[in-house]
Amino acid sequence: MTPWISRFLAARLLDRQAGHRQRVAERFQRLRHYDYLGCESREVIRRVRLAALLACAAEHVPHFRTLLKGVSIRADNALEVLADLPPMTREQIQSDRARFVSDAAQEVREDYTGGSTGTPMKFLVDPAAQRAREASIMWADSLAGWRPGHRIAMLWGSDRDVCSATANLRLRLRWLIENRRWFDAFEMSERRLESYHRALTRFRPHLIVAYASAIDELAAYLEQKDLRPPYPSLAIVSSAEVLTQGMRRRVEAVFACPVYDRYGNREAGAIAAECSEHRGLHVNEFDFIVEVDSPDPFRRPGPLRLTYLANYAMPLIRYDSGDLALLAEGRCPCGRGTRRLQRIVGRISDVIVTRNGNRIHGEYVTHQLYGVEGVRRFQFIQESLDEYRLLLQPEGKGPPVEVTEEIRRRLETSLGPGVRVMIEIRPQLEKLPSGKFRFTASRLREGRHGDAETTGGPR
Ligand SMILES: [Zn+2]
Repeated sequence: MTPWISRFLAARLLDRQAGHRQRVAERFQRLRHYDYLGCESREVIRRVRLAALLACAAEHVPHFRTLLKGVSIRADNALEVLADLPPMTREQIQSDRARFVSDAAQEVREDYTGGSTGTPMKFLVDPAAQRAREASIMWADSLAGWRPGHRIAMLWGSDRDVCSATANLRLRLRWLIENRRWFDAFEMSERRLESYHRALTRFRPHLIVAYASAIDELAAYLEQKDLRPPYPSLAIVSSAEVLTQGMRRRVEAVFACPVYDRYGNREAGAIAAECSEHRGLHVNEFDFIVEVDSPDPFRRPGPLRLTYLANYAMPLIRYDSGDLALLAEGRCPCGRGTRRLQRIVGRISDVIVTRNGNRIHGEYVTHQLYGVEGVRRFQFIQESLDEYRLLLQPEGKGPPVEVTEEIRRRLETSLGPGVRVMIEIRPQLEKLPSGKFRFTASRLREGRHGDAETTGGPR
C-alpha cells in the first residue's frame, strides 16, 4: 500500500496501549533532533540521563546496590562513577538473574535474546524501554532514508518477533498496516530465492533490512540469473552480521542502491547506524553510552561495552556486548556530532586463539584472501591447536589450485610451526541455527561461549 495509506491506518488502528504509538513517534523525533545538538548540550543530557539510571540502579537493583553503596551520584560525576564500575556479562545475569532486576519495576515484559542459538538469556523491559527500542529502530531506518509509511522488506532469521508475527493474527495485521513483509533468511534455496524475487518485485519495498550474508546470497542469485531487481527504491540495511567490503560492493552493484550498515541487539534495539556519508556508524547516543576497551580504540579493536540509558527494569550498565569494535576519529560531514563506531570487527566468541597465543578473527582471513579471484565466501575453522580448515565457497570456476596452495602456505606460516591448514571447496557453507553466518569458528571454544544475538531486529 502507499505510504500515506499506511500512515493513515496505522495512526487509527494500531495503538496497543493508549498513546503508545504517539509517544514512540515523539521519541523518534527527539533522537533525530539530539544528533544535531552541540557537543556541550549532548554531554549535559548524557550525564543527566546516566545519573538518573545509576541512582535508580543503586536504590532498586541488588547487584548495583552493593557496588554503589555510599557513592554520591550526580550529573557532574556520573561518567566517573560509571568508569569505576566493573563490566557486567551475560553469564552473570544468567547465573543469578534476580540480582539484576529492579524491585521497583512495573508492567514489565519478559523477552529473550539468543534464543535461537541455544543460550537464551531472559531479560525484562518496561514500557518506556519498549518505546525506546521501537523509536531507536525508526531512527536507524531514517538514517538510511526511511520515513513513516515506507514499505520495508525484512530478510531476516527466525527471530522471536518474526515467529510470533507470522503466527499471531493481530501482529500479522499490524505488519500489513505498517507496510512490512518478512522473508525467511533461514531458508535460501534457489527455489525460495526465485519466489522472494517475484514477491519483492510485486511489493516494491523502499528499504530492505537484511542479514549481511542473506542479502549477499540474494544478490549472488540475481547476478547469476542476470536479473536486474527493480527494488528497493531507497536502500539496503545490513545488520546482525559482519558486512565485508566484498559483500557491500556486490550488493550495491546488483541492487543499484547504497548499503547502510547497522549495529543493534535484541536487548536494546538499534545502537549505531550508518548515515549517507558511510564513514562509520553513528551511535544512538541518546540511549547508549558505548566504550571500546582497548589501549587505542581507534586502531586496535576491543570489547564493546554498552550502558543502556532507557531500561530501568533491568539496567544494563557497562554490559559486555560480546562484540569487538573500533571507534572512528573526527567529525562526520553529515552534520551529526555524535560519536561513531568505525566498524564492528566481529564477535569475541569467533576469535581463534592459536598455539602461540595470537588472536585472529574473520578479518584476518579476509585480508589473506584480498584480490583472490573465484572465492565467494569463506569459513575458517580451528579443529585443534594444530589443525585448521579453510572452507571456500567458489565463485564461477573457483580459485586455481596454485592460488589455494599459496593461501595455505601463507596461513601455515603465519599460524606458527607445526600447524596444518586444509583447504576445502564447498558449494554451500553452514550457518548457525539462527540463520546467521560466521566467518570463523573454533571447536576448542565450543560449549564455552554462547552465540549472542546481535540484531538490529524487527520491532
Ligand atoms: Zn554522518
